[in-house]
Amino acid sequence: MRIGLFGGSFDPVHMGHLLAASESADRLELDEVHFVTAARPPHKRPVAPAEARHEMVVLATILDGRFRTSRLELDHPGPTFTVDTLRRAARLWPGAELFFITGADAYRDLATWREPEALVELARMVAVSRPGYDLSRIDPFFRKRVRPIEIPGYDISSTEIRRRIAEGRSVRYLVPYEVEVYIAKHALYRNDR
Ligand code: ATP
Ligand code: MG
Repeated sequence: MRIGLFGGSFDPVHMGHLLAASESADRLELDEVHFVTAARPPHKRPVAPAEARHEMVVLATILDGRFRTSRLELDHPGPTFTVDTLRRAARLWPGAELFFITGADAYRDLATWREPEALVELARMVAVSRPGYDLSRIDPFFRKRVRPIEIPGYDISSTEIRRRIAEGRSVRYLVPYEVEVYIAKHALYRNDR
């Protein structure tokens, strides 16, 4: 089994995430890509509740045969570090080849990663290209250990989606239709700046 783990706050999940996961699955010939919703990311405070973010990920991924959703981080107390998640994944799927997928913005700063040496032993690190983030500015430690994957540029972020909603603008075709409806139903992000 070749298993991709795609972590994020998914606040909310958007088309850039889905494209990154899909392209990674194709290029790395992954059997599954698990979207791991971060409960309490160490470096930022999500806007929507964790369960709402996770439900949107379920809605966005449910029809793609390669995609799975994971509560690996949601169901564990305390701040969630990637290295702990990968250790749990390794126990969950012994013998599987693990790939940790992130966007190019994730590897700029080594200092934001806990136990980087252990990290790169547990999984192959993958960086998908992302508009505005230069893969050549990747931290030197990661440069020779991270596999870059060039994907079509989708210049969108959850921050931008939240800003649009707060301004009363449309997010159609930036997020899956089901996610758009879910956001409206639960009146999410309306007061975000
Ligand atoms: P925020 O603006 O709240 O930080 P985000 O759009 O960066 O949201 P995250 O949940 O932080 O989304 O990202 C999860 C993962 O998806 C990260 O590894 C990030 O680099 C990657 N990613 C997010 N958006 C894109 C995109 N448009 N293209 C490629 N990768 C992306
Ligand atoms: Mg981000």
